[in-house]
Amino acid sequence: MKEETKIIQNILSDPLTGAISTPIYQTSTYVQESPGIHKGFDYTRTNNPTRKILEKLITNLEYGYASLAFSSGLASVDAVLKLLKIGDEIIAVDDIYGGTFRLLNLYKKLGISTNFVDTTDIEKTISSISDNTKLIWLESPTNPTLKISDIEFISNKSKKKNPTVLVVVDNTFASPAIQNPLKLGADIVVHSATKYLSGHSDVLAGLITVKNIDLYEKLKYIQNATGGVLSPIDCWLTIRGVQTLYLRIKKQSKSAYKIASFLKDKKNSDKIDKIYYPGLSHHKNHFIAVKQQRYFGGIISFSLKKNTIESAKQVVTSTRLFKLAESLGGTKSLICHPVTMTHKSTPLDIRINAGIQDSMIRLSIGIENVDDLIEDLDQALKAL
Ligand SMILES: *Cc1c(COP(=O)(O)O)cnc(C)c1O
Repeated sequence: MKEETKIIQNILSDPLTGAISTPIYQTSTYVQESPGIHKGFDYTRTNNPTRKILEKLITNLEYGYASLAFSSGLASVDAVLKLLKIGDEIIAVDDIYGGTFRLLNLYKKLGISTNFVDTTDIEKTISSISDNTKLIWLESPTNPTLKISDIEFISNKSKKKNPTVLVVVDNTFASPAIQNPLKLGADIVVHSATKYLSGHSDVLAGLITVKNIDLYEKLKYIQNATGGVLSPIDCWLTIRGVQTLYLRIKKQSKSAYKIASFLKDKKNSDKIDKIYYPGLSHHKNHFIAVKQQRYFGGIISFSLKKNTIESAKQVVTSTRLFKLAESLGGTKSLICHPVTMTHKSTPLDIRINAGIQDSMIRLSIGIENVDDLIEDLDQALKAL
């Protein structure tokens, strides 16, 4: 079966009633026949039937061994970091998601340090690996400059240098419809399912998929011990959202390409400076994207010739269809100004190093008609 068929067909109807929509098992506990004798469920922190269906769904989509659902993307990132101990080191992509950066700062206090590296530079990444390196943390594409790292190459080379290294990919910006890191040699995939997987900007959720039983048992222990599980109703919302993942990603990628091309049009060349979209041939990692991804995705970033916070603010407050908001991956198109919004707490030197200019604007393309979206951007740019 092709992936888009699998998404739908792998959600089994309820064996008890035949209900075609997954039941929401809104329960904390389960009646036992005699002590320890039950139907596989004893307490919802440990196991819940609705959560189990979501976990199975994402395991199939990511070609993994098993998955775990958490109450947010960051709760799932945190669970992975708890695999480490004092003295272990992490190598992480330098323009990492701001929330993960903040969390890594907390772990630094606990004796687990992070070396931030431009992971699009493979030599640099591999030469940074030491005997203490336990984790390589990749995001591809990154936020907001959409840098693409070669997951397959890094996974192969890093394991040759240090076989105990785990390669983790935060696959939030791509989604399993675009790439499957485990198939490329990674060990763990993390998702903020808040974004493309749930897809409707109505739930906060995190997912981990692992490639083997050893990692699953360790992470299952961590999840049960720390308790940040996804609630049954949020599991249901995520299951409902994931069913249209392929439809959305296909349309969003197609629209994003058209919008990126519109921004690049020479009639906008006096206003727009740089455009970051992996589908455009001038993008610095375009050929890795072609090799690694099925689609180029629905996120575009660009900066203005008049490189000031004020001019960016003028654009982001002039759109009518694009709503000014953080987050991404929903059905409604969003516009945001990273410097004053998503990357407000990123230290200036890191921000400049990552190429996040004052006037940078990020678009998350929704499922509206693309010509309407272009018209909206056109009128907003005229306000400049
Ligand atoms: C949003 C996001 C997260 C955090 O997820 P939450 O669901 O907001 O906790 C992690 N990584 C990336 C790349 C994200 O975009």
